[in-house]
Amino acid sequence: MDQVFKLGWEEWVGLPQLGLPALKAKVDTGARTSALHAFDIELFGPATKPKVRFLINPIPARPDLAIACSATIHDRRDVTSSNGDTEARYVILSQLEIGPLRQEIEITLTDRANMSYRMLLGRQAIGADWIITPSESFCQPQRSYEVYHTAAVKETAPKRALRIAVLSREQNYTTQKLQAEGEARGHVVEVINTTRCYMALNAITPAVYYDGQELPKYDAVIPRIGPSITAYGAAILRQFETLGVYCLNGSAAITASRDKLHAHQILSRHRIGMPQTAFAASPKDTNNLITLVGNAPLVVKLLESSQGKGVVLAETKKAAQSVIDAFRGLSANFLVQNFVKEAAGEDIRCLVIDGKVVAAMKRVGAADDFRSNLHRGGTAVSVRITREERETAIRSARAFGLGIAGVDMLRGADGPKVLEVNSSPGFEGIEEVTGKNIAAHLYSAIEKHVRPAPIKRRPPR
Ligand code: ADP
Ligand code: MG
Repeated sequence: MDQVFKLGWEEWVGLPQLGLPALKAKVDTGARTSALHAFDIELFGPATKPKVRFLINPIPARPDLAIACSATIHDRRDVTSSNGDTEARYVILSQLEIGPLRQEIEITLTDRANMSYRMLLGRQAIGADWIITPSESFCQPQRSYEVYHTAAVKETAPKRALRIAVLSREQNYTTQKLQAEGEARGHVVEVINTTRCYMALNAITPAVYYDGQELPKYDAVIPRIGPSITAYGAAILRQFETLGVYCLNGSAAITASRDKLHAHQILSRHRIGMPQTAFAASPKDTNNLITLVGNAPLVVKLLESSQGKGVVLAETKKAAQSVIDAFRGLSANFLVQNFVKEAAGEDIRCLVIDGKVVAAMKRVGAADDFRSNLHRGGTAVSVRITREERETAIRSARAFGLGIAGVDMLRGADGPKVLEVNSSPGFEGIEEVTGKNIAAHLYSAIEKHVRPAPIKRRPPR
């Protein structure tokens, strides 16, 4: 028994899994379980595996320095504190560092103000053979609060659990992948049906509601808004933006990219290569429109086409005139475009995330189709893109301010010609063809941009 483990009445400890390398703890043999003084304690996650998130001021004299912690809930218990009050508390499990020892302990979370110690060490955390000397302090090596002011505390911080909403009406491959990948990374991902969201607009407490309840404050929103509900989806997204939630793609960017005319205007302003394009509102200008883009064959597109559904190739001037007349008769908005013949029914999809091309594929149209859309029977193959194509894709995503974008371009004789910038690109085809994990790239971008809670904030009160 030459190696006795001694404790004073106060000791320095660390809780590395919570990102708390240094805390002053008071030894409290009157309590069974250890306690952490946290605030903004918030429950989240699926009911089957609930998590808890909270803030802690590790340095009592620095209420402006708050660390955001998260953990899986282990239990919920009634705890009676020294002043006799009973309170239901969440219990978490976490690794305790004290001197040379490392052990997993139970910790209850409590939000009592004016506790001068951030942590109380209860009997469960104290070894049966340890010797406690109430007259001494710091029998174990001291730690320093200085660590909270170094870059290391951020680098070694455990990945925080984020609470993320995927705005989508569908349970397709991409939404399922987003949910699975996010949960595998320890986040909580909720798929929210965009059209079932409703909102309260006012000066002080704007909010988004769902199924009769106000939605919580998400750390990030991943919009997957289909073309049929662009306007409403953008409105919901604007509401999240008003609430200060990080939206991977913003409402303005989505709206602009959805409208082919608006999108081409943005690309043109940023001097990004595209097929010669013309647009007019009056039927009197049909012939001028055709000459502007350089005669037949030419492509006529509905402004809100997707999946190649509203894209027509007119082989002759006569055919072009009749297609244009037909669209006008239906009061449809369309644009006229020079046919890039040398693209030979192929286009390139570059997936840009956070300013980088993370995957690219070439789509080849079915034998009798100039459109390469996979929905039109096209097939996809992996492709090596040129530097110019890469730069064009990155500049296009940046021109719209999209965090994630599928940039489609044709290989023209004089360089890449961008056709569209898709704000909700699907993952299935491109993951299959390239073997890349697109969802993982997407979460890396979100984790880089989002901190789960303010690190610096005004002290409460
Ligand atoms: P959508 O939004 O409906 O997919 P696109 O503008 O992407 O409409 O056009 C669909 C497909 O048609 C493209 O992927 C491309 O293969 C072909 N295409 C479109 N515009 C042109 C063009 N100007 N020249 C040659 N092919 C084109
Ligand atoms: Mg397309």
